[in-house]
Amino acid sequence: MSFQNPVFIPGPTNMPEAVRQACNMPTIDHRSPTFGNILHPCIDGVRKVLKSDSAWIYIFPSTGTGGWETALSNTLNSGDKVLAARNGMFSHRWIDMCQRHGLDVQVVETPWGQGLPADKYEEILTADKNHEIKVVLATHNETATGVKSDIAAVRKALDAAGHPALLFVDGVSSIASMDFRFDEWGVDIAVTGSQKGFMLPAGLAIVGFSEKAVAASKSATLPRTFFDIADMQKGYDANGFPFTPPVGLMNGLKLSLDMLLEEGLENVFARHYRIAEGVRQAVSAWGLELCATSPEVYSDTVSAIRTPDGFNATDIVSHAADVYGVAFGVGLGEVAGKVFRIGHLGSLTDVMTLSGLGAAEMCMADLGLNIKLGSGVAAAQEYYRANPAASRKNAA
Ligand SMILES: *Cc1c(COP(=O)(O)O)cnc(C)c1O
Repeated sequence: MSFQNPVFIPGPTNMPEAVRQACNMPTIDHRSPTFGNILHPCIDGVRKVLKSDSAWIYIFPSTGTGGWETALSNTLNSGDKVLAARNGMFSHRWIDMCQRHGLDVQVVETPWGQGLPADKYEEILTADKNHEIKVVLATHNETATGVKSDIAAVRKALDAAGHPALLFVDGVSSIASMDFRFDEWGVDIAVTGSQKGFMLPAGLAIVGFSEKAVAASKSATLPRTFFDIADMQKGYDANGFPFTPPVGLMNGLKLSLDMLLEEGLENVFARHYRIAEGVRQAVSAWGLELCATSPEVYSDTVSAIRTPDGFNATDIVSHAADVYGVAFGVGLGEVAGKVFRIGHLGSLTDVMTLSGLGAAEMCMADLGLNIKLGSGVAAAQEYYRANPAASRKNAA
């Protein structure tokens, strides 16, 4: 690894220098009003990024995984039925967490590379006449395969079935990078973390609850202490946390939210699309294919790239680290060794992206793949030239 190179893993992402500096704070008394001046703008900013007017926002010292647990443990009872699709490592891990919490998960096995099967959800929900299913899980962006799913379609499936189940969405690798509409999609709980779209170190679980999800928490009996939203709410009402808050990280979050909202969410999403599209042009010029099976599911935050049969894709990642000091993502679970991943979310420019594509080409050529040096870089250059970025004059 080299600290001079950007990382191309799908989280933690590259940090803007100003955000990194904002995390570096002297100790303050977290029971003083100074903390409230950090906390409340964070809550308001996250709500805006979720495109919600009324979501209850909870920020825990944790990671995205703790956000999953916050969602489950606050709203469900042991033995409750959950509907989920498994189409990659992250949806798999959330299902595994449900099972370890004693929940009864109906799993729709979905080929890795495809999006969530909203039609199958609708069929199952329609057949569930007694409304035994309490929650539907949806991974908005499956980071293992570079697949984005249509959450509006999942909401439509619930509505078409006239089913009252709650809708929980994992937006860890989409929120603050790709369009996310908490209110419009009728999301009941959205889960994210600090180290992806928010461009911070790992350390915060960030969740949004609908009124309906908060209501469910009043009678839910799964054990919870650290992640109890009622305790957190009491803390907020007194301008603090129920325990010691990670003040520096939250100060960083406050700045990152300011930067995202100042750039404008639609511009942030367009920037991610542009950067991603350049990467996709490169992949196509290399003669390789994405794990994602069709353009409507292509993720704008991570591309999982299939390598030829018999080639161990993980070798690219090890070689890149050893020889060029640059980080790409390995394949996980079912696609381990079959794909390598280029993370392209967070703080990234065209120029940074071209450097990653150039490094990937060197690695693939070194390892004997039939890649013409410069081919992917040139394809991305052409795309970026033809679709110039909005002015970065004022960007950090
Ligand atoms: C990164 C990620 C997670 C896990 O988050 P941690 O912060 O590592 O706990 C969960 N879901 C998705 C989609 C992710 O990309």
